[in-house]
Amino acid sequence: MPYLAGTETALFILVVDDHPAARQLLEMYLQKAGYRVLAASNGRDALETLRRHFCPLVLTDWVMPEMDGLALCRAIRQESWPGYVYIILLTARDSREDIVGGLEAGADDYLTKPVNPAELLARLKTGRRILELENTLKQRNEEIIRLSVTDPLTGVYNRRYLNDTLPAEIRRACRYGRPLGLILCDLDHFKRINDTYGHNAGDLVLREFAAGLRSAIREGIDWLARFGGEEFVLVLPETDLAGSVATAERLRCLSAERVIRLPTADVTITASFGISWFNPDALENPPTPEALLDEADRYLYQAKKAGRNRVAGPLPMAEIAACLAIGPHALQINRQK
Ligand code: GH3
Ligand code: MG
Ligand code: MG
Repeated sequence: MPYLAGTETALFILVVDDHPAARQLLEMYLQKAGYRVLAASNGRDALETLRRHFCPLVLTDWVMPEMDGLALCRAIRQESWPGYVYIILLTARDSREDIVGGLEAGADDYLTKPVNPAELLARLKTGRRILELENTLKQRNEEIIRLSVTDPLTGVYNRRYLNDTLPAEIRRACRYGRPLGLILCDLDHFKRINDTYGHNAGDLVLREFAAGLRSAIREGIDWLARFGGEEFVLVLPETDLAGSVATAERLRCLSAERVIRLPTADVTITASFGISWFNPDALENPPTPEALLDEADRYLYQAKKAGRNRVAGPLPMAEIAACLAIGPHALQINRQK
């Protein structure tokens, strides 16, 4: 559905009237005032037009064949649209009951015929102010939602996002019968960076490390969350064990090679990686998010114990050799339990 954002959108108005002469007169006024006008001859027509081309402003007559202005107001309020629809009801009916009835049906404002062009434009201006306000609130809301799932230091997803989204990823993997990989990684001897260069330098290293991971995963498919202090989780949809190992190993190499510029020195930092994964077709019940994370954490611990700067996961030797052309020094080998 075409939808032009910002002030552009506010200029689109749908005029609904069954009398061609009245409609054309309104169209003329509005076009002269800079509006881009769409027209419909009854409520049903108007709804169809709106669905094809969203207009945030609707100026509608009350009495019309097929679907009248009141029914149109109600129908517009029942449907969901790309933004708020500001409706002005335009009619010869001007009793108090009529006005109340029109507003209750969902109209935002009410004008009686014959309409005074200056008053019509002033009322539309009010409508546009409300639409702009609504747009600003919507943007702020989106920003609040984004911030609530973002780690402020690194800009990657936070633990809350992980808690909310990992169960959904597991369900999706099960629904489509696709594998899901998970990598937990932790910076090696990170405390030394803080101790040697200070906490701000440590923060910078964390930011750079996270940026490096983020730029090396499949955009829009894989995702990354900060799990805690200097620990990150990567979730890899559609990825089996071999793919997860290959990804972790690639990230390990990239991280180890990356030179991070601190104000007082250039540093490099390594990280250790623990892998877990599952294939829904091979399991009766899928693992819980906690079980996946625990398994990756166990392998991460093994990678640390074996000397750090390495990848550990549920891997028989032959499989590793098959999926990676790298030396075993970089991998901690484990038999599937
Ligand atoms: P290991 O290789 O065993 O993981 O050693 P490590 O030093 O990386 O691990 P340890 O758990 O001993 O220390 C982690 C440090 O990370 C301690 C903590 O102060 C630091 N840290 C956690 N969060 C932040 C942060 O947001 N900024 C900075 N600068 N440091 C942080
Ligand atoms: Mg660490
Ligand atoms: Mg840690």
